[in-house]
Formats: sequence, C-alpha cells, structure tokens
Amino acid sequence: MRMYPGTFDLGMFLAVRAESRHEETIPVPEEQHVAQVSPKARQKLVYDFHEGNKDLKDLLGGKGANLAEMTNLGLPVPPGFTITTEACKEYLETGDEPKALRDEVSAHLDALEQQMGKKLGQKNDPLLVSVRSGAKFSMPGMMDTVLNIGLSDASVTGLTAQSGDERFAWDSYRRLIQMFGKTVLGVDGELFEDALDEAKKAKGVATDVELEAKDLKKLVKLFKGIVSRETGRDFPQDPREQMDLAVRAVFESWNTDRAKLYRRQERIPHDLGTAVNVCSMVFGNLGPDSGTGVAFTRDPASGHQGVYGDYLQNAQGEDVVAGIRNTVPLAELENVDKKSYDQLMQIMETLETHYKDLCDIEFTIERGKLWMLQTRVGKRTAAAAFRIATQLVDQGLIDEAEALQRVTGHQLAQLMFPRFDSDHAGDTLARGIAASPGAAVGKAVFDSYTAIKWSRSGEKVILIRRETNPDDLDGMIAAEGILTSRGGKTSHAAVVARGMGKTCVCGAEELEVDTKRRQLTAPGGIVIDEGDLISIDGSSGKVYQGEVPVVPSPVVEYFEGRMHAGAEDADELVASVHRMMAYADRVRRLRVRANADNAEDAARARRFGAQGIGLCRTEHMFLGERRQHVERLILAESDKEREAALEELTPLQKGDFVQLFEAMDGLPVTVRLLDPPLHEFLPDITELSVRVALAESRKDANENDLRLLQAVHRLHEQNPMLGLRGVRLGLVIPGLFAMQVRAIAEAAADRLDANGDPRAEIMIPLVGTVQELELVRDEAEQVIAEVEARRGVDLKLTLGTMIELPRAALTAAQIAESADFFSFGTNDLTQTVWGFSRDDVEASFFTAYLERGIFGVSPFETIDRDGVGALVRSASEAGRATRPDLKLGVCGEHGGDPESVHFFHEVGLDYVSCSPFRIPVARLEAARAASAGNGGGSDHR
Ligand code: ADP
Ligand code: MG
Ligand code: MG
Repeated sequence: MRMYPGTFDLGMFLAVRAESRHEETIPVPEEQHVAQVSPKARQKLVYDFHEGNKDLKDLLGGKGANLAEMTNLGLPVPPGFTITTEACKEYLETGDEPKALRDEVSAHLDALEQQMGKKLGQKNDPLLVSVRSGAKFSMPGMMDTVLNIGLSDASVTGLTAQSGDERFAWDSYRRLIQMFGKTVLGVDGELFEDALDEAKKAKGVATDVELEAKDLKKLVKLFKGIVSRETGRDFPQDPREQMDLAVRAVFESWNTDRAKLYRRQERIPHDLGTAVNVCSMVFGNLGPDSGTGVAFTRDPASGHQGVYGDYLQNAQGEDVVAGIRNTVPLAELENVDKKSYDQLMQIMETLETHYKDLCDIEFTIERGKLWMLQTRVGKRTAAAAFRIATQLVDQGLIDEAEALQRVTGHQLAQLMFPRFDSDHAGDTLARGIAASPGAAVGKAVFDSYTAIKWSRSGEKVILIRRETNPDDLDGMIAAEGILTSRGGKTSHAAVVARGMGKTCVCGAEELEVDTKRRQLTAPGGIVIDEGDLISIDGSSGKVYQGEVPVVPSPVVEYFEGRMHAGAEDADELVASVHRMMAYADRVRRLRVRANADNAEDAARARRFGAQGIGLCRTEHMFLGERRQHVERLILAESDKEREAALEELTPLQKGDFVQLFEAMDGLPVTVRLLDPPLHEFLPDITELSVRVALAESRKDANENDLRLLQAVHRLHEQNPMLGLRGVRLGLVIPGLFAMQVRAIAEAAADRLDANGDPRAEIMIPLVGTVQELELVRDEAEQVIAEVEARRGVDLKLTLGTMIELPRAALTAAQIAESADFFSFGTNDLTQTVWGFSRDDVEASFFTAYLERGIFGVSPFETIDRDGVGALVRSASEAGRATRPDLKLGVCGEHGGDPESVHFFHEVGLDYVSCSPFRIPVARLEAARAASAGNGGGSDHR
C-alpha cells in the first residue's frame, strides 16, 4: 500500500523503534559520575533508601532511585536498601561479589533490623524482605521479584504468632519456596504449579484461597521435596543465605538470553548492569482490610487527570495484575478504606507535582496502613504524550522547552498514520509485535507468488508467512502488509518492511500458519483461508478478521489544513500538536526542507511547514512519454541529432520548473541535475533482446530496435551504482547538463517576469573531485549568463554539489572552492562508506547483522555517527574553513529520522530535507535537539 500518493520516499515513517521511555528524561546531575571517577577508589556499594534520589538511576536503577526519592519525600515506603549496579558489574566481570559487599550489606541489614525492631528470619517475629531487580531501564527478562525472604521452618511459626493468622504464614512460606525455587534455583515452575493443582484437586476446591493452613503445610513439604530433588540440595533455611542467593540471582539475570535480546532490540547498552533492592515486606494478604493495587496519576491513554487504577483486596504482589481474581476500579477503594484512599490521592498529587509528569505507582495496604512500593514516570500512548505535555505547561509545572522533551518525533509519526476506525474494529484474531506502523487491509495470501499474481490483477493482499526470507521480497513489495507468526523486531520481515515503509506485524505466535494448506488458524479455532480478508495494525500489533475501515489521522488533516486547531471539531490532540509545533518552530535552529519533485508535493510540503525544497530529483522528468526523447539522445550519432533531442526536452523541463518555483515561491529550491545511469531510461535488456530475436527470425528487424539493443549492451554495467551516472553523465553527454541548467534559468526568468520570487539552487550529483565540479560550473555559468543577458534579468542562481562519495567528503576543502553549498547525500554516502549496496544488503544479511548486534539499527535508517557521520562532520568543517558562508544541508532519508536530526543539529548544518510527510517530525526533532542543551535534558530513549 502506498499510503500517501505522490511521495515515493520509501523510507518515510520508518518504524517507531523504541517507545519513548519517559522515565529517563529527567536530567542526570553530576553526582552519579562521582562513583566512576576512578575504578580503584573505594565505592559505596549499598545505599539505604534515604541515601539515594531519583537522579541516581545509573547507580541505583530506576526502581531503587525512585524508592529513595519517595522515601526522601516523606512518603510511606517500607524501609530497605539498594545494592548498586557497580556491584553487579563487578560480579559479572569477575564472577564474584565485590569483597566489600558482604560487610556493607550486613551493615545496612543491621540498620534495617534496628529500625524494624526485628531480625531477618528471627524465629519468634521474623523480619521478611523482598529482593527486587531494577535496572536503569525496566527490562523484561530480568529476574522476578522474590517476596517473603526470611521465612523458614522455624520462623513460619513466629509469623503465625505475630499475625495471628496461621493460614497467612504458611501461604507466605509456600509462595517463598515457589518463587525462590523457580527464579533463584532454576527449578521448572510447572512442578510447583502441578503440585498446587493436585492439592486443590485433592481437597475439591477451585482456587488457592480455599486451601487451609493444614493443606498449605502439606504443600510446603511437597515444595521442599521438589527443591531437594531438582537441585540436589535442601531449600536454604538460613535467612541470610536466602537473601544472598537471591541477590546473586538478580545479578546473573542481567545476562539471560531474553534480557540480552531485549537490550539489543531496544538499543540499551549491555554494560549497565542491574541494581538490587532489598525492601522490608508489607502484607496486603492479611485479610479484607489489606490489599494491593496499581495506579496512574492520570489516564495514560488520554492524559486526563483522574483516578485510574485497580485494587484487589486481600492480595499480595503480582496478584493484582495476574488476573487471579477480579480487581475493582481504584475509585472503589474510597468505599473500602476511605482513610487510605484519601492518603493515596494526596500522595498521587505530591508525586505529580514533584516529578512534573504522569507517574505510575504500586501500593499495598496492610491492615489499614498505606505503603508505597514503587513509582516511576509512566509510559503513555503517543496521543497522551502530546496532551500531557501541553496540560503540564498549562498547569505551570513545566515550560515549553521541557514540554518539547516530553514528546518525540516517533510519537508524532505514529499519530500521522491512517488508522483503523476503532468504532468498527472487528474481532481481534491475535496480537503480534508492532514491527512497522500503518493500517493494512487485504486478502490473505500465503506465498510470494500469489501475492504478486493477485496484486497484479488489482487485489490488495496481506502476505502471511511463518517468517520471511529474501525469496519473499517481491511478494512483500506487492503486498499491502506483512504478517508473520515468528520473529521479533529485527526479523527479516520487520527490517525489510520498515525499510519499505510497509505495514508489518510479526511474531504473532498465537497464529498457526500453514503455508501448504494455505491457511491460518487463530486461537479458538478460527480459520482464515487464502482469499479471506484480514486487517493488520502495525502500530498496535493487532490482527483482525475481515475488513476494518481506515480513517485518516486527524493530525494529518490538521497539517493538510483541512482541520483547524481552533475549530470546534478539532480535538484536544490536534490542539496539543498545534501548540507543540508552535513551540518547536520558535526554538529550532535547523531549517526543514522537503524532498519533492513536483508542484503537488511541493505544495503539500509547504502546508506541512517546509522552508524550501532540498532535493528535487529531475529523473522523473525524463520518464513516461518523454522517454522517447531520451532514447533519441542516447542513440544520437551526430551532434545535430543530439542537439535536436535536447532541444525537445528543454521546454518540457522548463515547464516542470516553472510550476515548482511557483509552488515554492520565495523559498529555495535545490534542483539536482540528472543522476541515474542512462540504462534506466532504456527498455529492459532481456525484453528487448527477445523482441529483436523474434523480429530477426521473421526477418523484419526494426532498425531502431537494433540500435537500441546495441545501446543497451553498450550501457550495460556490472555495477550501475558505481558506474556512469551523476556528474559523470553530465561530462560525457555533451549538452545534457547545459540543457537542464538552461531550463532552470529560463523557468526562473519566467517567474521573475510574472513577479514571482524564484530561488533556484543547482546541485551537481556524485562529484568526487573539484575538477568535475569546475567543468560543470564553467558550462553552467555560461548558460546562465547567456539567459540573463537575453532576458535582462539577474537570476541569482547558486551552484553547489552533493557530498555523497567518500572522496568528496575527504576533499571537501577543495570542493568548497567551487561550490556555493553542500548537500550531504547520506543514502549514497552510507552505501559507499560501508560498501553496501542497499537493495542487496537489506534483503540478504541485515537481519543477521542486527540480530548479532553488529549495529542496533540499520545505518540507512539512522545515520552511523562514527563512520558516515564522522565524514559529514569533517567535510562540514573543511568546507566552512574554505568558505565560511557555505550553506550545508542533508537530503538523504536521514533528514527525516529523529535521531539523525539531532546529529545534524550538533554538526551545525543549516537544514535537513526529507519527504513531505516527515517534515513535522523533523521540525519537532530539530527543536528537541535545540532545546535539549538548555533546560530540558533528554537522553532521548
Ligand atoms: P516488578 O519490577 O515486576 O514490578 P517488583 O519488585 O515491583 O517487580 O515486585 C513485584 C510485586 O511484588 C509488585 O506487585 C510489588 O508491589 C510487590 N512487592 C515488592 N516488594 C514488596 C514488599 N516489600 N512488600 C510487599 N509487596 C512487595
Ligand atoms: Mg513493580
Ligand atoms: Mg545519490
């Protein structure tokens, strides 16, 4: 599906890779680096909750830093301490806990015991703790929290006595052995679950809450048996040993395969390590006046303030999210326990004002006393991010610069995709990984061949595969969208689809794909046969049966000028986007131009805020009916023939430019002279060979075809990407570039005559050395002077070059002598710096490279700072050293990529140029880059 007719930049809207993780946007002050000054310096390895703060995430992890922050705010946090990521790192490096760790933990444990008035695992009244992992970024694959550490055969009776609840004590012990056995000792969790099921069956009950103390005692015995049998050792009875083993297991969980995979996909560095939190237990499972819950300070979907959350009475830990019993909406807590509810509301307000952002929290009520167990700046949808940012400005909590750090270009891009009409969303078949955004509807096909065949006959198809491989490429191109049942965000399907800007849902594991029988089986036995309609949502990962209607995004309607932010029907989201874009345009330094080749795209680009055209490709002006002139040009045997062909092309070209300059009146338009190799304008070599051969056998060979075939053979190249193209063409085909320059000059003169304000810039592609540029410049200047004299105008045309070959970048100082501007062609520059032929590498081995972590993201998607970027930087500096007023821009697809825009801002380019639909994204990111330095500090994750 080409979502937006009129653009053919396939890279537009590349996938939203990592969700924005707002919790990390809080600026990190100096203190945290202190620990890293010298590796030899004695570092503190354990921090009491009251010693840390929210800015110490690198050292204490997200959870630990925020527990400390809440403690210091005076909120009721169960006391505890955090073991630093430094300790973890040393453990992972050496295979041993740092020497000082044991003593430091002992000291903090002593203090905790003093404060609580009881000792860990003490027989008559045990202190119990949870051991919780917590890295800087929350990460699936890390060790699950172990609750109730400190319980043993001896202390379980003490807990009974203290709580007056024998069932509670044995249930807690049973949970400890189960969690500890599974997560610390690595026992297969099913063994415990099976034993639990047996116990329920034996008693004839359905849920574990119906098991009594005596049943749980038996279960504990069974569980201990499982541990002994499976691990060859008894369940540790020494509470300190339990704690130490759990801490070590958390350290080790940093390197589980799942954690590593997640880090690679989300581009989280592998050397951060995790912190470990030891937190005294509070119990939500002590009867109906106890419970546990989760809450948001405002709606993470809409951004509205209110009471959002769930509460579960008489429950512990994950029970509330595990769905074992029905939770109640948080608002009902008011009826259950008004005092705690009011206190919670108060705390939520404190947290919002303090963090100046939406927070999500975990809490527990133990016999009417409220405890805070976790908070963090909460995740939110893209729409909510925009709404919340402007709401917080209105509340006076943040300023405009900070608001810009609260949203991302990826989020804005997400809001610009057409979407399924949620009112008409049909039955969800399954949910996979949202690999490449967009909304696609089509008939199910199960192989590439059918995809191509059906799409040629005008059908829209969704290509469904277990996973894709390079053989599926043509089918993927033909399909509206791609659905796979296997593979993650870096699978072949995901990478290639993102590269093509095509909707993709991958890894929908609930779906069984049977390519032989050409059918798909969804949970519940629903079968989708070849030809049945399905809909896939690449932004949510959802797969629907049947056709879900698609509606345009209101944000695009707004950018298009079809909806006004102030209008009655404009929704709150559009109003927020409007305000954020206004902030963005106020603070950004980088200008944003469009890659556009025709008046229609140029007009749209202007509506989207383009400040000119950074790349007008002229090749399409040689296609269609005009191809015949190009053929004549190529076949010309005399100067006269060639000149005649060029003469026919001049007015056509001129007409194109007049329209374009009119659409961009008053703004710069960079026109690139012809770039692609000539064979692209000739018939396909095989087709033509067959035609000629057939004609010859009939003895009526066409003279023109024969000449064409010769030309095709002559122009055939082993490696067209590195062959006769760009400036090389201009130099070997006399008159070609002169004709284009004349068309530009005449068009500009026409516009001046019509009282317009044309600002054309002529750009020479694929220059590798200044001599090439000088030759073209001399010729161009003559043509321009001639047109100016004849028409009596001053055209003020400038002439510059693309920097897209390593040699051009390396000799930028010389090239700048002959160039008024540089435009970095980062697509070709990436190809030539890496020695990658993009079409070949993306389909064949990029998946393997991404999976093996050679790079975290394709260098065609995000600029490779260290390699390609280094050349951009040095060429910019060298160019400006020669010519301080040298104008610098970029016109590769990177010009619209958020991360790359930040780089171009840093390097000091004047503008980025990107496809029209990415302009708002580039405007926003340019502003985020400009304001990150002053006020809003973001590490952009
Ligand atoms: P996660 O990172 O998965 O959120 P947590 O460490 O927050 O893991 O713990 C898992 C569950 O156990 C959460 O519901 C949390 O509130 C609860 N929990 C953790 N520590 C304690 C504690 N000391 N007392 C009571 N509940 C706890
Ligand atoms: Mg938690
Ligand atoms: Mg190029």
